[in-house]
Amino acid sequence: MAIADRMVPERIVIVGAGHASAQLCESLRKGGHTGSITLVGEETWLPYQRPPLSKAYLLGDFERERLFVKPHSFYADADIDLRLGIRVDAIDRDARTIALSNGTRLPYDALALLTGARVRRLDCPGAGLPGVHYVRGIDDIDALMPAVDTARNAVVIGGGYIGLEAAAVLRKRGLAVTLLHRSPRLLSRVASVETAQFIEGIHREEGVDIRLGTTLRSIEGAGRVQKVEIERVAADHVAGDTAEEIPADLVVAGIGVLPNQSLASDAGLPTEDGIAVDAQCRTPDPAIYAAGDVAWHPHGQWGELRLESVQNALDQAKACAAAMLGDPAPYDAMPWFWSDQYDVKLQSAGLPSGYDRAIWRAGDKARGGSCWLYRDDRLLCVEAANDPRAYMTGKRWIEAGQTPDPATIGNTDIALKEMPVL
Ligand SMILES: Cc1cc2nc3c(=O)[nH]c(=O)nc-3n(C[C@H](O)[C@H](O)[C@H](O)COP(=O)(O)OP(=O)(O)OC[C@H]3O[C@@H](n4cnc5c(N)ncnc54)[C@H](O)[C@@H]3O)c2cc1C
Repeated sequence: MAIADRMVPERIVIVGAGHASAQLCESLRKGGHTGSITLVGEETWLPYQRPPLSKAYLLGDFERERLFVKPHSFYADADIDLRLGIRVDAIDRDARTIALSNGTRLPYDALALLTGARVRRLDCPGAGLPGVHYVRGIDDIDALMPAVDTARNAVVIGGGYIGLEAAAVLRKRGLAVTLLHRSPRLLSRVASVETAQFIEGIHREEGVDIRLGTTLRSIEGAGRVQKVEIERVAADHVAGDTAEEIPADLVVAGIGVLPNQSLASDAGLPTEDGIAVDAQCRTPDPAIYAAGDVAWHPHGQWGELRLESVQNALDQAKACAAAMLGDPAPYDAMPWFWSDQYDVKLQSAGLPSGYDRAIWRAGDKARGGSCWLYRDDRLLCVEAANDPRAYMTGKRWIEAGQTPDPATIGNTDIALKEMPVL
């Protein structure tokens, strides 16, 4: 079946061999695609999961083989033409070909841009010194792990999930850790103030020296990192005059990512903070799609946004496959996320943006509890620490458009399963 201006393609080319791509390959074959599928990825690895990289893999508790989303045999059995270690440099939309870094061109009937995101890099003096590390890919962590073995004083830049997870691993590995975060509270983009304070308390208990409202002025050392100079950031986010030196033999930066959207923008496709697509992962070019970390997409409840999560990568890849195969279903999945730090598993469903009321509900387990976020008395998001029941129940309610009474949700005398919902 074909939709208006899009024919079911024979030759599908996927750019980027990440989490979303592995799912897209599977969904295309499951959906009955019998034409060719070529997967071009600039990394040399098969598509792998990134979440363990800042958690068990960095700790040395997770074997590399387990990172791969699918074994090699999956791609062979599904007749996927794997081109790894090759970058796509340009798209010729008129000719429907892409230019590869090995000098060849590849024709396509449909092209999926699943190019993900890259780390934002430090730009202060000394940022290029040996001893400065990032946390995005297997190669980054393979370079970081031996540095952790010999370091004593780590400075982590960034109090988002990646920085906090890295800080937790470094503390577990026995390093002294100072964490700098530019804004006055942790997890400023991704969690409520209340949950951020809870997480801050855990890190302080574990001995992390957290410096909020602080930024890096420079990294210094003779031949490699020996100290960092930090400074306070004023309320209007302007760096201040008061500088302080901290000894450091390891710097780990987790200061966010940038979507890999230049292939699309250079080819004249619209981009915002990501490649702009509709709810079916379609760009305005009927042959080109985008999904995963790189996709700027509309969401029924949260408006236009770009999400950085495994859930989004997987669900959008499924929506992308459906659209390519001519049976589009709008992507409108409930965003959910998790993070592991020390013995705390944090799980969230929904998004915390725009809440006007937060209610904390104590949990049964140590370091546990849940934060219920409301806007106009409607449940928007639940953030649960060591409380899978609260997470699952909240997720179900949000998906069903149900709201527990904000007057009772914090009352642990009422079990969640008996909680009145509106
Ligand atoms: C350390 C870490 C921990 C995380 N933890 C969690 C977590 O706990 N929970 C959670 O939900 N999410 C987590 N995430 C986020 C999650 O891993 C991402 O949302 C997910 O990997 C996105 O998948 P993707 O396929 O869209 O992009 P990516 O995984 O970024 O894959 C894109 C691939 O495309 C390649 N590429 C880019 N441009 C080109 C080009 N021109 N030519 C060829 N190849 C190209 C890139 O090199 C990359 O390999 C974590 C991410 C990181 C880095």
